Amino acid sequence: MPEIGENVRRILSEVPDYVEVVAAAKARTADEVLQVVEAGIRVIGENYIRDTRVAQSLVGQRAQWHFIGRLREHDVRLATLDLFDLIQSVSSISLAQRIDEKCSALGRRMPVLIEVNSGREPQKTGVLPEAAEDMVRQIASLDNVQVLGLMTMGPLGPSQDLYRPCFEETRQLFIHIETLAIPRVAMRHLSMGTSDTYRVAIEEGANMVRIGSGLFGVR
Ligand SMILES: *Cc1c(COP(=O)(O)O)cnc(C)c1O
Repeated sequence: MPEIGENVRRILSEVPDYVEVVAAAKARTADEVLQVVEAGIRVIGENYIRDTRVAQSLVGQRAQWHFIGRLREHDVRLATLDLFDLIQSVSSISLAQRIDEKCSALGRRMPVLIEVNSGREPQKTGVLPEAAEDMVRQIASLDNVQVLGLMTMGPLGPSQDLYRPCFEETRQLFIHIETLAIPRVAMRHLSMGTSDTYRVAIEEGANMVRIGSGLFGVR
């Protein structure tokens, strides 16, 4: 598919330099993942462990690997954690504790983002905005996990009136937590926006966006 390369180049030229474009690789083939990396993408976002292994066998360390999907506690095993450079979807203390324990055995520290349910949608994962500060403080006390920012999906819908305020609130939360200067917490990444919403997310302060169909094509 020649258009994958074109999509990557167009989006990379369109977004500001400080914005990291994460290719959301849900259910794409390893070959498609390789194509986005060869076209200039540096971070792959994966929802599924098995897909990650397959894609890594082809792409290897030419990209960084972020987990962006729903992480269940039984997924948090040594071999799984070893696949990822960062986990964007941490949304409970118990999950963070489990990552902490396993990473202690691996002898490494896992960078994580806290997933915020900015749309307050009951079916979505993520901590509610008002509970995020407390969660960051608790996770900050774990030795083998480092909080490096926030991630949010935001409500999907036809109108930016729906998701813009959610991005704005998440940005304010990000800045608020940054000003708290919690030891060992570094508010570095604000990951918001998908194919349909990334432009608005960047206007509202995202420095990381996660784009799937906009890069790989619509299926
Ligand atoms: C699938 C997915 C994306 C990308 O969505 P697109 O609409 O394909 O751009 C971003 N973030 C997460 C967590 C996803 O699961």
